[in-house]
Formats: sequence, structure tokens, C-alpha cells
Amino acid sequence: MGHLPMDLTDKIFLIAGAAGFVPSTVAQLYLDKGATVYGLDNFITGSNSNIELLSKYENFHFIKCDIVQGLPDFEEVKFDFILSLASSASPVDFEIIPLEIMMANSVGTQNLLELAKDHGARFLEASTSEIYGDPEIHPQVEDYVGHVNPIGPRSCYDESKRFAEALTMTYFRKYNVDTRIVRIFNTYGPRMRPDDGRVIPNFINQALDGEDITIYGDGGQTRSFCYVTDLANAIDHVLMLGDEMPYNIGNPDEYSIKETGELIVSTLESSSKLSYQELPKDDPRRRRPDISRVMKLGYSPKISFEQGIKETANYFKNIKNR
Ligand code: NAD
Ligand code: UDP
Repeated sequence: MGHLPMDLTDKIFLIAGAAGFVPSTVAQLYLDKGATVYGLDNFITGSNSNIELLSKYENFHFIKCDIVQGLPDFEEVKFDFILSLASSASPVDFEIIPLEIMMANSVGTQNLLELAKDHGARFLEASTSEIYGDPEIHPQVEDYVGHVNPIGPRSCYDESKRFAEALTMTYFRKYNVDTRIVRIFNTYGPRMRPDDGRVIPNFINQALDGEDITIYGDGGQTRSFCYVTDLANAIDHVLMLGDEMPYNIGNPDEYSIKETGELIVSTLESSSKLSYQELPKDDPRRRRPDISRVMKLGYSPKISFEQGIKETANYFKNIKNR
């Protein structure tokens, strides 16, 4: 268990959302293993700099495309793996582009599932811890069915991801498509947008600039943060070795948001002070994955929170100086 094939030179991947934070990191992992990777993106939240980086690999091919409008004709290619990673995960975007998020996770995901059916490809859906909503079970195990407000400000994301899971299971049951589902918990690291509004980019940039650290509510709510290369490695384990559905993936180390702010300030030796602001509606109080199922595949997170904070801060410093 845990010995993953390093040489994937004869494999062809399609990654939807390739210009994004997590998807471009996953694309790079497979390019480094010698695979051919086709990337799709409409740049709604992705960045061209990620595509430039991937384009240094000669076996990377990019096609600008909105997966909701339909996929390119891939008559010359036969995909082995299709990864459905095209959706923003940032709560700030839930207010700005809610319909685009809902369509990507429904119509867009179905277009990718149809392609997987036609190609006989293995399909992976990037679901989320958000399908558990504000959880009543702690830590969250895969069997927990969740506690989501269907009409709240997060529902465009939470419910469309629940629909994406239902679609995936339907293609598995009805058409025998070889599917996988991962429920990704909070992930951070290089290639996040500095202004995407999530807690880690906000706090790191505030700490770097000596500004107040904006804690929403009393900071007692918790999250468990996974460094992005660990997360890509977890996706790889599920894709190559997993035979169950779904898998929680992430890092189970749990921090309150106040502790997170304090740790970022001390790790970056910042002079920033904590300040308190209103808590957004339906903000989950606690979140920590039970990852025992994926650990049975040989996965475990490797990067400590302090190390991840430093790497991410270096990334933000470099893009500021560019
Ligand atoms: P991201 O916004 O950086 O990446 C998503 C990419 O998808 C972007 O490049 C965007 O332009 C592209 N995209 C969106 N709609 C599209 C469409 N209709 N057609 C083509 N491209 C489209 O987000 P991320 O944080 O890297 O998340 C990637 C995946 O992981 C998403 O499915 C997300 O729901 C899931 N996820 C992420 C986290 C996290 O903490 N980052 C947590 C849970 C789940
Ligand atoms: N948060 C915060 N300050 C910020 C941004 C976020 O206190 O500047 C809190 C937010 O209210 C939530 C947690 O940090 O409790 C994680 O928020 P994020 O948007 O990163 O992701 P979520 O897990 O809520 O989807």
C-alpha cells in the first residue's frame, strides 16, 4: 500500500479548472510523473500565470473553454483520467458568482461525466467538506450525511457540490463509470489568489503588511488546514489506489481561527494585532476531517502548518515584487 506509480508516461489526463490553485498543483504533479495533461479553464477565478507555468512542460496542452457551454471535440485523444476540479471554493465568490458556481458543479460536471463515459476514463469529482454544512458530528466521517442550510448564503456552493456527488454516483450506478469522490477540507498554499477572501491569504497578507488581522466572530470557530502539495498527493492516492466512495482528504490538525491568526503573526514575526469583525451567516463552527479511510491507502500529510505558512508567505511576497 502507498507505493504509487511514478511513471505515468502512457497516461492521458483531462483537468477541468487547470488555471486554478488546487487544479494547477495537481496538473503539475502528473506532468512531473511524465503524463500528458490537457487543461481546460475559462479563467473566471483562475490565473494565466498558472497556465504559463504548466506550459513549460511539452506534454501540457491548454484549451480555453467554459465546461458549462460544452467541451471541445476530443476525437484524436482518449483520456485515461478526467478530473472535475472547476469551481471556486471561496465564500467571497459565493456572493459574486453564485450561478456560475452552481452551473459548473451541475451542467459542467455532467459534461465531464459524459466524456468519461464515452472515453471509458476514470473520473474524479472534487467535492468539499462544505457538503457537511455546520456539522453536528465531530470530527467529520464520510458516513455523516451533513447539516446544510439549503437557502443560506453558502447553499449555491454546498448544494451544487451535493448535486455533483449525486450525479457522480448516478453515472457510477447507471452507466458503470469508474468514479471517485474526494471531499476536500480547507486547503492553502502557493497559487492562492491573495485577494480571494479566504482566511489564510487574508491573514498572511495582513501580517506581511502589518495590518490588523480580521477575525470574524470571536475566533472560536475551528478549521483544519492542509498544504496544497499534501492535498494533491491525497488526490493521487485516491485516484490510483482508492476503491471506495467518498474519501475525506486534508489534514486533521485543528486550529481555532484566533489561534490561526496568532500562529501566522508569530511565524512571520509580524507586528499585526488581532481585530474582531462580524461573523458571516451560516459560518460552520467546527471542521476537522476524519481521514482514516484515505490513510489506509498510505496517505498522510507531511507539511507542518508553520512550514506551510512560511512557504505561502514567500509566494505572496514574490508575486508582490513581480
Ligand atoms: P480555483 O478557483 O483556484 O480553481 C478553480 C478553477 O476552475 C479556476 O481556474 C476557474 O477559472 C475554473 N473554472 C470555474 N468555472 C469554470 C467553468 N465553467 N469552465 C472552465 N473553468 C472553470 O479554486 P480551488 O480552490 O483551486 O478549488 C479547486 C477545486 O477544489 C474546486 O472544485 C473546489 O470546489 C474544490 N475544493 C477546494 C477547496 C480549497 O480549500 N481550496 C476545498 C474544498 C473543495
Ligand atoms: N475568517 C476570518 N477572517 C478572514 C477570513 C475568514 O475570521 O479574514 C474566518 C471565516 O469566518 C471562517 C474561517 O475563517 O470561520 C475560514 O474561512 P474561509 O473563508 O477561509 O473558508 P470556509 O472554511 O469558511 O469555507
